[in-house]
Amino acid sequence: MLEELRAIVQEVNAARELQAALNIIVHRVREVLGTQVCSVFLLDKDINSHVLMASEGLRKEAVGQVSLSVGEGLVGLVAKHAEPINLQDASLHPSFHYLQETGEEEFHAFLGVPIIHHRSVLGVLIVQHKEKRRFDEGEEAFLVTLSAQLAGVIAHAEATGAIHGISPSGHKTSDTVFPGVSGSSGVAIGTVVVVFPHADLNQIPDRPARDIDAEIEFFNSCLESVREDMRVLHDRIAGRVAEEERQLFDAYLHMLDDNALGKEVVDRISQGQWAQGALADVAREHVRNFEQMNDSYLSERAVDIKELCSRVLFYLQDKDRVLTEYPDDTILVSEELTAAMLAEVPKEKLKGLASVKGSGNSHVAILARTMGIPTVMGAVDLPYSQLDGKEVVIDGYKGEVISNPSESVKKRILNTLKEQDQLIAGLEGLKDLPCETADKHRVHLWVNTGLMSDVMHSLDQGAEGIGLFRTEVPFLINERFPSEQEQTEIYREQLQAFAPKVVTMRTLDVGGDKSLPYFPIEEANPFLGWRGIRVTLDHPEIFTAQVRAMLRASIGLENLQIMLPMISNVQEVSSALQLIKKAHRELIQEGLEIKYPPVGVMIELPAAVYQTRALARMVDFVSVGSNDLTQYLLAVDRNNPRVAHLYSAFHPAVLTALLQVVTQAHEEGKPVSICGEMAGDPGAAVLLVAMGFDVLSMNAMTLLKVKSVIRSISLDAAQDLLDQVMQMDDAQTIRSAVDLTLYNAGVDRLLRSSRTN
Ligand code: PEP
Ligand code: MG
Repeated sequence: MLEELRAIVQEVNAARELQAALNIIVHRVREVLGTQVCSVFLLDKDINSHVLMASEGLRKEAVGQVSLSVGEGLVGLVAKHAEPINLQDASLHPSFHYLQETGEEEFHAFLGVPIIHHRSVLGVLIVQHKEKRRFDEGEEAFLVTLSAQLAGVIAHAEATGAIHGISPSGHKTSDTVFPGVSGSSGVAIGTVVVVFPHADLNQIPDRPARDIDAEIEFFNSCLESVREDMRVLHDRIAGRVAEEERQLFDAYLHMLDDNALGKEVVDRISQGQWAQGALADVAREHVRNFEQMNDSYLSERAVDIKELCSRVLFYLQDKDRVLTEYPDDTILVSEELTAAMLAEVPKEKLKGLASVKGSGNSHVAILARTMGIPTVMGAVDLPYSQLDGKEVVIDGYKGEVISNPSESVKKRILNTLKEQDQLIAGLEGLKDLPCETADKHRVHLWVNTGLMSDVMHSLDQGAEGIGLFRTEVPFLINERFPSEQEQTEIYREQLQAFAPKVVTMRTLDVGGDKSLPYFPIEEANPFLGWRGIRVTLDHPEIFTAQVRAMLRASIGLENLQIMLPMISNVQEVSSALQLIKKAHRELIQEGLEIKYPPVGVMIELPAAVYQTRALARMVDFVSVGSNDLTQYLLAVDRNNPRVAHLYSAFHPAVLTALLQVVTQAHEEGKPVSICGEMAGDPGAAVLLVAMGFDVLSMNAMTLLKVKSVIRSISLDAAQDLLDQVMQMDDAQTIRSAVDLTLYNAGVDRLLRSSRTN
């Protein structure tokens, strides 16, 4: 059974569109289970009905014509309860709804299972039989398993239709919503540019060829380059490997023949696809065909096809260095957005972002918030590769991408944009006012930065210091490690722009979801692996060069603080301190006059929470990285959209940990700041002020909103709220209590821009 199951899923996966996929399902299931009927009904939300989309065994004319309103018939019952129904004689069931056009009266036995994708029922898969008998347990289990595996494929096929404006049953549709999570608030409407990592055949988007003849010529020249490579390889390994292996290169050369793969690609280009897309399509098709073969020798040829086509792709991408053209209203879409992708688009043209992978606390989302670009993360069902050139709406508040937006949705978006502008203009007056509660308790609002442009914007917003300069950002958008001198210049710019205000520079924090293209780290559990201080202590040369650059950059300014990320024990701190002292000593010996800077640790791991006292004693300040702390306390990968709903900084465990850190650090006489995203959430900020945090460090975009909320509430009221929520045992209840307080303080309009769950 397992083999058959796999085979069906593979075949369905290979289908190019929804109808073909459904036809394969009904055909193959009927065959494998030996039933007389197999049908699929799918929900068409546009007409609020389940439509018979495919069937083998029922009358062909009924397919596409027959439908049941939601809730109607046995189909409606299966969908409503999201559970299988297995009946000896369907016609006796009170919900049975006879569909005359289908000719189903002769079939008695009925088994219907729901097709469920991400908790919602897409439709119902049904088998029927003339005999009056219940389907046995094995048959039921098979159908349930198959349906669970096919749901994703069906959802994807439906989504592909929807972005072309077609509902599952072929109606014209608009405003198709692809849910994800909020990455950065705000709304945008614009034209999609799909970006993709190079040399990955699976991620090439569909795109029209600009000039078909030129594209064919270009493809042929790349093909010739690969042929040449193969000939060279063939000759080079002569005598080193067995003749059969050498023949592999001959086989490759044959595949590249004008009449084989090459011809298929050219045919597709002639139909209007660009060369990379045409190559990727042909490669995928052949790989799938080979993989499906039962013969292990032949199925392994799939690897050869991949290898060969990747080589051709390499040339296509390398030679095709024509810069991507970005329209003025670019919405950047990718399977997995990276910081480098963002950096490539001219700032004034980048209006919105959407990523299939990642979540609201992924680093690319944080970067997007810093840049103030509306972003949707984790839009797992978005058929991104087919979106190039299409108009979409990004709703960064709700975390939704909307394709084929109707006039009324566009109007709503334009209104929201206007409201946003008014809100921002209304806050301008706060820039030069101090951040203090209504009863004059002073709080310091600092900013998190990564790029120089953040610094300018931060100063403009009245920031009083930098609580976190993510030094990895300049590393991420480089093609190699920046040299000590290059780093000195980058750091100097930040220090100088902010002087005499304090700039807290965090030492390199790569690993997890931040991998440098030139220093890849591949691990099964990257967030529990080689990350932050663990990497830099293993590479003292990288750490020392960075610290030296920071120290040299601070000459004459004396506003530098150094901060250590991902600390899990005291050993790491003492090793890092030794390296910092050594770097300082050596620079002094070189004749430079440099003040030794305050050094602090980040509290980001549960282990560090429990060691706050010991850590605080070793350093000058502590700073809570609540993004990671939430991730590690709740065991929720900050990057995984599937568990994004579980990620909440309002979880009582997180709040208890934060309170403990503030109390213990203060008892050791050390100041405490918080530089995770929750500091920029106006509601959370009220709790943090009540806890006693000395500094809240956030992205500059949220600074004035937070200031506005803090100025409108008294410390007493904030502390009452904190006392209240510390008695509660559920994140959502706490969030609601905080929202209510903000509502009563008359600042609820700012809630819309908050995003910590
Ligand atoms: C954090 O973890 O809260 C933090 C500020 O660091 P980053 O988000 O860069 O991991
Ligand atoms: Mg962190």
